[in-house]
Amino acid sequence: MSVKYVFVTGGVTSSLGKGIISASLAKLLTARNLRVTIQKFDPYLNVDPGTLNPYEHGECFVTEDGAETDLDLGHYERFLDHYTSKANNVTTGKIYRTVIDKERQGAYLGKTVQIVPHITDEIKRRMLLLGKSGNYDVVITEIGGTVGDMESLPFVEAVRQLQWELPSEDCLVIHLTLVPYLAAAKEIKTKPTQHSVKQLQQNGVQPDVLVCRTEHELSLDVRKKLALFCNVKPGCVIQSIDADTIYQVPLLMRQERLDEIVLEKFGLSDLPQPNMERWEKFVDRLTHPSKIVDIALVGKYVELQDAYKSILESFIHAGAANNCKVKVHPIHSEFINDANVAEKLSGMCGVLVAPGFGERGLEGKISAIKYARENNIPFFGICLGMQMAVVEFARHMAGLPEAVSAEVEANAKIPIIDLMSDQKTTTIKGGTMRLGAYSCELREGSLAYSIYGKKLISERHRHRYELNNDYVAALEAAGMSVTGRNPDTSLAEIVEVRNHPFFIGVQFHPEYKSTPENPQPIFTAFVKAAIKRQEENKNKKEE
Ligand code: GLN
Repeated sequence: MSVKYVFVTGGVTSSLGKGIISASLAKLLTARNLRVTIQKFDPYLNVDPGTLNPYEHGECFVTEDGAETDLDLGHYERFLDHYTSKANNVTTGKIYRTVIDKERQGAYLGKTVQIVPHITDEIKRRMLLLGKSGNYDVVITEIGGTVGDMESLPFVEAVRQLQWELPSEDCLVIHLTLVPYLAAAKEIKTKPTQHSVKQLQQNGVQPDVLVCRTEHELSLDVRKKLALFCNVKPGCVIQSIDADTIYQVPLLMRQERLDEIVLEKFGLSDLPQPNMERWEKFVDRLTHPSKIVDIALVGKYVELQDAYKSILESFIHAGAANNCKVKVHPIHSEFINDANVAEKLSGMCGVLVAPGFGERGLEGKISAIKYARENNIPFFGICLGMQMAVVEFARHMAGLPEAVSAEVEANAKIPIIDLMSDQKTTTIKGGTMRLGAYSCELREGSLAYSIYGKKLISERHRHRYELNNDYVAALEAAGMSVTGRNPDTSLAEIVEVRNHPFFIGVQFHPEYKSTPENPQPIFTAFVKAAIKRQEENKNKKEE
């Protein structure tokens, strides 16, 4: 079978959920035993989003092979339960960098280097790359941005060329658009979609399928009208109605027959029906929780939902695994201090201190950690959250009041968190952190060991600083243990406070590997500990 290529473009407005639609289609196709991957083409000039502030672009997702990528790759992995890689996220920056490097090497000697064909050739090469690996039957390519944006034009042009170059049964374009409801007129409006499809057609691309985001059911008449004006078959106009959770979208797309429409175009109509049993069970558990537990998420980007995307999703998976809804209370670390922490964290049955960079909000994180430690509230620190747990313990328990991270004080007297040695000579900021999967050996008898149930684990990383091993003896003597280490470099990966019901800090980012069908074990155990704490609180009140 030849490799099939699906392109997903977006119109009318951004944030319609192209990533979720792409991932939902991929899920349905995978459930029919096809090998599917999804890639994202982002129109910005940064080589990757690693240097972007989360306020700009939400969370930066990290792949196994250490690429810093768009957060949509997180959705792809969570829906597919399959790892993506460096090749799955391409930016305009990457494309231009390749073309300009080639030009310097003389690859185009004598020629003027232009957007068409040189840039578009490089885009097309990358669009087909994963398909050429032999590992996939279907490659879904999501084009970032909105049709009509100047930035995404070369990508749309590359799709136009491929629509001609690939056999028609190997290529399909889905256009995701918005069909708004005007409350005053009590009417659904198709005009924005008509304009957006026209824009796409002006660029030479004819969509095969329209997926219409809508708050209300689309009637047959509306679908027919859209089909007529947009040159699409009536059966190929489908609705994507607002859902309670993104995890329902694959099931809704199944009802709308998105997978069947796609397979029909590819000449693959005779494939078996998708097996979505495990997914349906997960969605059922997710939408019918038997209890609610309150957990604080302490971080400095809490006003922006997308900044901690993978952490929030991990809580959804871990909640469902515990038949429980995790109510995450975002708490801004900049506004916590020792005086108000009891009030800010009142009623919380667990405290997660988030990853981050820089000085802002650090002391607030330390206050929150101290409070959780002293009051036996389950605590989970991730990356910077783990580093601050070490600083807090050193200052208040291990007799090191001047302990600090070198990230805030380069010439600190007690740099208990210090730059990793290979980072000391690094001046380039992009792509130079400790990134991607590394293994970690767990200490038998530790909380971490009981959670994972095995000795050797692997998790993803994204950091420059580490726990300074010079101070481990002092921490151990005072009651904090290093229970996970990298077997090759001896870098400390996990710390635990021994006399505490649940206190764990991890240098890695477990949130990147949690999926609905395989919830991350520390998150699951943390939520379980929070439920226990809630029950204890209830019993105390009743006494
Ligand atoms: N800023 C810290 C470091 O670079 C932590 C990074 C993080 O939380 N991802 O080590």
